Amino acid sequence: MSLPRAVEPTAHLDLVLRDLRSTRSGLSSREAARRLLHAGPNALRRRGGPRWPRELARQFTHPLALLLWAAAGLAFSVGIVTIGTAIIAVIALNAAFAFAQERHAEHAVEALAAFIPQHAKAFRDGRESEVEATELVPGDVLVIAEGDRISADARLIDGAIQVDMSALTGESAPVNRSADLLDTQVPLLDARDIVFSGTTCAQGEARALVFATGMDTELGRIASLSERVHADESPLEHQVRRVAWLIALISVLLGVAFIPIATFAAGLSLLNAVIFAVGLLVGNVPEGLLPVITLALAIGVRRLAERGAVVKRLSAVETLGSTDVICTDKTGTLTENRMRATEVHTALGRVDIDGETNYRTTPSAPLRRLATAMAACNNAHVTDDGTLVGDATDVAVLVAAHALVGSHHGNRLRQFAFDSVRKRMSTIDESDAIWVHVKGAPESVLPLCVTELSRGADPIPLTDQRRTELAELVDARATEGFRMLAVADRRLIPGEPPPRDIDSAESRLTLLGLVAIVDPPRPEVAAAVARCHTAGIRVIVITGDHGLTAAAVARRVGIVHGDPVIVTGSELARMSEDELDQLLSSPAELIFARSSPEAKLRIADALRATGHVVAMTGDGANDAPALRRADIGIAMGRSGTDVAREASTMVLTDDNFATIAAAVEAGRRGYDNIRKFIFYIFAHATPEVVPFLVFALSGGAVPLPLTVPLLLSFDVGTETLPALALGRESAEPGIMTRPPRRRSEPVIRAPMLIRAWLFLGVICAVLALLGFFAVLLSAGWRPGAPTGPASPLHHAYGQAVTTMFAGMVAGQIGTAFAARTEHASLRSIGVFSNPMLLWGIGFEIALTGAILYLPPLQYLLGTTAPAPWMVALVVPFPVIVWGADELRRWLIRRSTAPEPPRTRARTHQDESRPRAGSASHRATGR
Ligand code: ATP
Repeated sequence: MSLPRAVEPTAHLDLVLRDLRSTRSGLSSREAARRLLHAGPNALRRRGGPRWPRELARQFTHPLALLLWAAAGLAFSVGIVTIGTAIIAVIALNAAFAFAQERHAEHAVEALAAFIPQHAKAFRDGRESEVEATELVPGDVLVIAEGDRISADARLIDGAIQVDMSALTGESAPVNRSADLLDTQVPLLDARDIVFSGTTCAQGEARALVFATGMDTELGRIASLSERVHADESPLEHQVRRVAWLIALISVLLGVAFIPIATFAAGLSLLNAVIFAVGLLVGNVPEGLLPVITLALAIGVRRLAERGAVVKRLSAVETLGSTDVICTDKTGTLTENRMRATEVHTALGRVDIDGETNYRTTPSAPLRRLATAMAACNNAHVTDDGTLVGDATDVAVLVAAHALVGSHHGNRLRQFAFDSVRKRMSTIDESDAIWVHVKGAPESVLPLCVTELSRGADPIPLTDQRRTELAELVDARATEGFRMLAVADRRLIPGEPPPRDIDSAESRLTLLGLVAIVDPPRPEVAAAVARCHTAGIRVIVITGDHGLTAAAVARRVGIVHGDPVIVTGSELARMSEDELDQLLSSPAELIFARSSPEAKLRIADALRATGHVVAMTGDGANDAPALRRADIGIAMGRSGTDVAREASTMVLTDDNFATIAAAVEAGRRGYDNIRKFIFYIFAHATPEVVPFLVFALSGGAVPLPLTVPLLLSFDVGTETLPALALGRESAEPGIMTRPPRRRSEPVIRAPMLIRAWLFLGVICAVLALLGFFAVLLSAGWRPGAPTGPASPLHHAYGQAVTTMFAGMVAGQIGTAFAARTEHASLRSIGVFSNPMLLWGIGFEIALTGAILYLPPLQYLLGTTAPAPWMVALVVPFPVIVWGADELRRWLIRRSTAPEPPRTRARTHQDESRPRAGSASHRATGR
């Protein structure tokens, strides 16, 4: 937009308003709707055309696919066109499959944006209203406050703010932007009266006139939508990629070693040896593993979203599963954030408020002044339909003020907004005189008071003794779980100009009284806390509220049991890093009270440095650094600021602690399921390799029990669907009674490999070979007897190979059932509880039947229809394989002394009780 030069700010603004055909009080809703049709939604569109061709191409060119191409090339070069073609078919199938899964995963993550619609405050029909950010149009007047994400390019018309422009400029230090600073000769990005879409307001409040939306904004110019989704490789994927490579390397070595053994020891022709080497290689390269993992993570993400936790990265599922400390705030997360002021304390004593009606027709003068301050220093307001909206504390205070004296009329001149460091807010209001009104945490407001309003409504000096009395009163009510506020005022001397800065406004105050507010704990939190404790997860409360209030709430929901160690913000500030580390590593029950956003950052840092995986909640704009630093930053979808949401990894759509516990459970489940199908896929390696080893080691006396086309069918045809289904298993019982996984613990561990390769793998291989030999021997075969095309045993050999294949598939079915649980019995989760697995197995059986009996497939894959008794032979295999693992699990469960989870939980909680004398920071409260 071109700006006129060298004009006065107001004149300039009038020109801009005229250009945009708008007014200082914004547009009408109808006009906005018309402009929306014309300008289009305020959203970014993806640039640079569709990305899918590149993504599809990538599936054909990733390193493991290249290895398969090399194998195909080798096959073609020695003239075996069928095998070469089969391998290309394998590559194509895998690529299509992986592509479909990645798209699916991507869509799942992109769809999450819909769960947390971005809102903006704009003037419509002359009133401030909340609109969807996508509905902003040029000409709208925005209201921008601390913590807001700015959703369009706009020119400030009133107020001053600090803006974090890092999204556009990369510079993280906030810059000042003000309606009074008119720059017309600098680049747009440097203009001090303009704010941009994608940036955030770090401090202050302002109104701004939107002049560009959607792709016309500066962000639209530089951004592509893909930046929204973090497609970073998770540690899990990284690990699995490495293991996949290791296995690929072993397969290559195995294949290469097979050639000389087969040619020299078993007398196979070089050509055939190469064919089998290629088969071994193709069979063992775990090319399908990574896409299945991506998909399983995406399923986890979707499931989390359904439970009210929207995550922004696939890898969050994995991190959540290993979370061992949750740092939670109190208000709204542990409590309902439905506050109600139940009593006020003035020099006259205590007055209970037990209704929302004005029941005191003639309130005393001190009470009237208190109520006036409570209503004036307040940002809650009544909407057209009569509901009260605003910050929960403000709403409670306003309702109480109304109950005490009825409605208040005054004209606000200025506001110094609430912030979590000052822990108070103040306003300058004009009525009969000009007044400063302040309300906030008692520790924050009392030191600013020099007098107190007496019974006779005169200010009397606030003595030390009275201060002690007040502090005791605050502590006593806080111990009961009340949230306490102090309210104060100062009347300006006639002719005194209204103070412009906070310090001169918030000084020489007169204390009017204290307000006690209740905020009941959420009913579902106690059970969620108990589940966290049983799962070995520590819960630490970090709150801006009074320590004793926090302790009372924490006790009610079971986070603390005895007297917790309460560390206040100022105590924490005095602690050295070592002292903090020591405090955090002690098993004490901890509450950080009156804490600042910096405190959260320090605590997150210290916990991470000592090896913990930390989930931390936050809602304010300055919580962003701590949210970024924690392993899982959790923002509130309802009450939090846009900045916190942007900095977080996970957004709770219901602001509820119980959802965090549910998310951890979903994370553990997602991780477990990934381990299940890795195990399942690995378990196939042994039956795939053993036939070739038997052939090679017998020096050719035993004919090859498996052909390469059947090996490929087994590898890609029958194993995939059940693997996918395992990614959807429900949680194993006991998932929340075991301790959290250590951060360093690899996903693929020795016991898993032993169970896959040496236990179930060997059983499957032995069973399948049993079928092979049974068929051969029954036809009169003896070791060394010829089985070639012209020999009398050729038909039986064909049936034996086919039976071997059927046996392998049967073993695979048993493995799929065994893989469903790692510790528990199949009965405990239900045999039929994963319908997708049953469908997958149904498909697998149908496909095998077709391979065995359909002439075209028989021709293509070289199978010979087995006799009924041969099929009957392999039918019990699934039960044998699954039964063997069931027995193994039962034995393990029995030998690892079945400690009931309850006992373990109590031990954990007992340990976390503070030991007498160990707590140097005990219950100082304030
Ligand atoms: P948590 O950090 O657990 O959400 P909190 O809501 O008490 O707890 P803050 O919002 O930082 O944390 O508030 C800190 C303190 O500031 C409160 O305990 C209260 O005394 C005071 N306070 C909160 N809201 C207001 C408000 N709207 N006006 C004045 N003072 C407030």
